[in-house]
Amino acid sequence: MTAKSLEETRNTALFAWYADQKRDLPWRGEADPYCILVSEVMLQQTQAARVVPFYERFITAFPAAGDLASAELQDVLDAWSGLGYNSRALRLREAARIVQRDGWPTTPETLEELPGVGPYTAAAIASFAFGAQVPAIDTNLRRVLSRWHGESLQGTALTVAAGTALGEPASDWNQAMMDLGATRCTPKTPQCGICPVQDWCAGPAAYVPPSAQGRFEGSSRQLRGAIVRALVRSPSRLEDIAQQTGFPVVEVEAALSDLSSEGLILAGSAGAYRIAD
Ligand code: SF4
Repeated sequence: MTAKSLEETRNTALFAWYADQKRDLPWRGEADPYCILVSEVMLQQTQAARVVPFYERFITAFPAAGDLASAELQDVLDAWSGLGYNSRALRLREAARIVQRDGWPTTPETLEELPGVGPYTAAAIASFAFGAQVPAIDTNLRRVLSRWHGESLQGTALTVAAGTALGEPASDWNQAMMDLGATRCTPKTPQCGICPVQDWCAGPAAYVPPSAQGRFEGSSRQLRGAIVRALVRSPSRLEDIAQQTGFPVVEVEAALSDLSSEGLILAGSAGAYRIAD
């Protein structure tokens, strides 16, 4: 079998499985670049099942880029609340403002110029919304491709492998690979016995999952989220925020300083902090 026919045969099996087994997600099949951008930014640090209610709430609150562009940050963070990494919401509004002013960029390179949009998200939007024939390369795709090849791929080798493996249309292939990585070729317990591409895969050994993320409880991430939730409710002073969040004043002060320099909050009158405009 030639290299080309191997890719084609594997993609035929992949596409058939995807057509039958694809996950039912509210952004699936979406061609509106704004909805794709929102879903992809939410998915950057959060699993799909958890994103679904947040995505639906956010799109209901801000159905189009123009709605988000003109929204108060307070309302944006309120709709984002609970998802974490709030600076993503701020960058999303910045991106919506640019799109509202200049129109949508349509290539991976120009999409990458939007705030909060990296190479993966840019490729995903370009392929789903604008029909670009490009692979969306993230850790998920790297894991699956590494296992197909029987070696840990990165850098140029990963880019080349993704370009060679890419099926047409890229929009379906990218989503099929996302689903394969999420439901079959998972990091720790790949289900090779029920995997549609097992016949063309070297097996799971090539990929070693990274060690688990640090604890959330008591982390600065938890504190930052708690501060934003408190300020969405009402402006507050340092001591009050420390009392509400249960964190020491010195840690709250440091987190407030970080959130201020990121543009998420402002130190207002009489020492009270509030959500930025
Ligand atoms: S056969 Fe196993 S390792 Fe290979 S792609 Fe399928 S689930 Fe992953």
